[in-house]
Amino acid sequence: MADYRLIRSARRTLSLEVTPEGEVIVRAPQRLSAADIQRFVTSKRGWIAKHLEKPRRLMPEATPLEEAALKDRAREMLPALVARYAGQLQVTPRYVKITSAKKRFGSCNGKGGLCFSWRLMRYPLPAIEYVVAHEVAHLKQLNHSPAFYRVLASLMPDHRQRAQMLKNTPA
Ligand SMILES: [Zn+2]
Repeated sequence: MADYRLIRSARRTLSLEVTPEGEVIVRAPQRLSAADIQRFVTSKRGWIAKHLEKPRRLMPEATPLEEAALKDRAREMLPALVARYAGQLQVTPRYVKITSAKKRFGSCNGKGGLCFSWRLMRYPLPAIEYVVAHEVAHLKQLNHSPAFYRVLASLMPDHRQRAQMLKNTPA
C-alpha cells in the first residue's frame, strides 16, 4: 500500500488525489476515525495504483535527438518560468536543475533547490506552468497543507484543472 498524506479539514466527505509528483493525498473530515480513513484508502487501492502507474506507462522513451531538443527547451524555458512565479511570491530558489527523472516532473528540497525533468517538456504549456508553479509554491510551504494550496492558488487559480491535464495527456 502506498503512503499517503492525510489532510483533515472542515469538509464532509473523503477525497483522494494523486499529484503529478506521485504523492497520494487523502482529504478527510476533521472527526472521521483513522480506521474509517484506512478503510476508504484500502477500497481505493486499485484506483491509486492505476494513477501512480499512469505517468510511467504513457511515457515512451525519447530518441537521443528528441532528448537533446527537450533538454535545450527545458534549459531555456524553465528558469524563466521559475523566475516569473518566484517573483510573484518574492522568493528566490537556491538553484534550478534539469534532471532526467522519470517519475517526478518536479521537486523541491529543503535547501530551496528546484529540480525539473526534461521529460516535462513533452506536455502542453499549461501543464508545464502548473508543475513550475507547484514547485515554486513549495519554497513558501514545503508540504501539501491547505496553506500550500492557498499559495499555489494565488499563483494559479486554475491549478486543479491543470494538474488534471497533466495526468490526462499522453506524452
Ligand atoms: Zn508538491
